[in-house]
Amino acid sequence: MTLDIAFDNSYARLPDRFFARLDPVPVAAPALIRLNTMLAHELGLDAEALRGPEGLAMLAGNAVPEGAAPLAQAYAGHQFGGFVPQLGDGRALLLGEVIDRAGRRRDIQLKGSGRTPFSRMGDGRAWIGPVLREYIVSEAMHALGVPTTRALAAVTTGEDVFREGRMPGAILTRVASSHIRVGTFQYFAVRGDEDGLRTLFEHTRARHHPDAHTPLEVLRAVVAAQARLVAQWMGLGFIHGVMNTDNTHIGGETIDYGPCAFMDAYHPDMVFSSIDEFGRYAYSNQPQVAVWNLAQFATCLLPLMDSDQEAAIAAATEAVHEFSDHFQAAWLARFRAKLGLAREEDGDAELIETLLARMAALRTDFTRSFRGLADGSARAEFAEPEAFDAWAAQWRTRLASEGRPDAEVTAALRAANPAFIPRNHRVEEAIQAALAGDFAPFHRLCDVLACPFDAQPEAADLLAAPRQQEVVRRTFCGT
Ligand code: AMP
Ligand code: MG
Repeated sequence: MTLDIAFDNSYARLPDRFFARLDPVPVAAPALIRLNTMLAHELGLDAEALRGPEGLAMLAGNAVPEGAAPLAQAYAGHQFGGFVPQLGDGRALLLGEVIDRAGRRRDIQLKGSGRTPFSRMGDGRAWIGPVLREYIVSEAMHALGVPTTRALAAVTTGEDVFREGRMPGAILTRVASSHIRVGTFQYFAVRGDEDGLRTLFEHTRARHHPDAHTPLEVLRAVVAAQARLVAQWMGLGFIHGVMNTDNTHIGGETIDYGPCAFMDAYHPDMVFSSIDEFGRYAYSNQPQVAVWNLAQFATCLLPLMDSDQEAAIAAATEAVHEFSDHFQAAWLARFRAKLGLAREEDGDAELIETLLARMAALRTDFTRSFRGLADGSARAEFAEPEAFDAWAAQWRTRLASEGRPDAEVTAALRAANPAFIPRNHRVEEAIQAALAGDFAPFHRLCDVLACPFDAQPEAADLLAAPRQQEVVRRTFCGT
């Protein structure tokens, strides 16, 4: 079986200052942990060849396949509000791009592939913890219907990396519609490189928003995509954890699964990231943070807009403010669906907010409470069931006003409310088992999370909220 990949590397054709060309650094003894066969197929890649020696060599960075043009992308970014003029791929390399079976351009990137000119103090490597975590969570997000980067493969390297201690090294193969971030635009904007900015803009426009023509139209498209994305996160109790501008994807995909988390007990102020001291990226702050990030994007585009800068600023500001309407509409649509409502009515926002307020007061489990609306078990999630009863009476009246058959409502509720999410304690458990050499819990989580809306009785143990001693309170960056 030979590995034959039809690369078409559009980013590598951009000017030299967009990246540094280099090969991945080989590793001692690569072994495959998991290959995403379905995704390989989607990309038009031969899964058997990827599993073979040539494939493994590619996934480990030990060989550069024919047609690849490995490079580390340059980007900048605001991290927790502080601007860093140069970040860039410090532990990742873009191998190249392929056109998938549906005609979409997809990046194939190795993460943990060794040092690059952007590594600064880092070693360019990753250990199996963050690699398994990103594999599990990004693939779960995809199955949950959320735009996201994907995981094609995870391999161990046979080498150790040094973090708190000695950890087994690993590499993730990430697939994305691109790796262009708000921070990529900031990289050129801060250097006053208007030609670079224009070139990046045209590349991005053609690739992500071909129906938009002007910088203002692209801005509006990115604003709308981010609003829809964050509304989806909110509907799942997902907290990204590190919404820096270098992690804000121009195509509207979720990117960077570092300290992210799905909430168990619901509260709007929830924060998991160990480095998010002030709760900047708390669950309920996410829409505002997205607006802040989009304002940075808008600022980058100003030099490409109207030569009358006052007019450009006014138009860009207005475009960023469109986030609010997009987000409200997407949020309402999502939570209406979560309540099984097919029609729009005036009091719906209030009905949703009332439920969320009661859940927050009693810290009920987010996923189980919503799924329980379909299964009749929601009441049991409330420490004070009367708090649910009063609300449920209103909800049932509202549902009855639509006159849909019960079976239809139940099916709709099940389609909108997942049974399975990658719960933090399960992800942690899978990582701990892997560290002890047992990858079975990791594989099982991946398999179950591929169909998060299905009942899957054999996986009933994965439905449970963590017991007191299992609760994960802190998550860490993916290095
Ligand atoms: P991230 O946590 O992915 O948002 O990364 C922020 C910046 O730190 C990016 O420029 C990364 O490439 C860089 N970085 C993170 N971990 C490492 C590492 N182990 N070695 C080199 N650079 C790293
Ligand atoms: Mg990042």
